[in-house]
Amino acid sequence: MGTIRQTLITLLQEQSWTAKEISRAVGVREKEVYDHLAHIARSSNIGGKLVITPSVCKACGQAFKKRDRLTPPSRCFRCKSESLTPPRFHIQPFAGPGKHRWVEDL
Ligand SMILES: [Zn+2]
Repeated sequence: MGTIRQTLITLLQEQSWTAKEISRAVGVREKEVYDHLAHIARSSNIGGKLVITPSVCKACGQAFKKRDRLTPPSRCFRCKSESLTPPRFHIQPFAGPGKHRWVEDL
């Protein structure tokens, strides 16, 4: 269990992922990936901060930023479209002296 979480943390430090991509990469069910992500989001020892690129409605462009849960909504509350991009996750390293400065891609 702890090992999988460590693997996830390493992956998330390298690039951004959707839960589905992580699921494929490590062979863990998508639901479990979200459980791990929820833990990682609350962890202070991951070398940075879990950053979430929100799910966006492909039909109207609505972004779903304020979510209590990490899972995407099943459909858009604005236009009711079910075509949403999945949220992406990565770990943004804490900025330190001499460290490369991270630029948000959103
Ligand atoms: Zn919409």
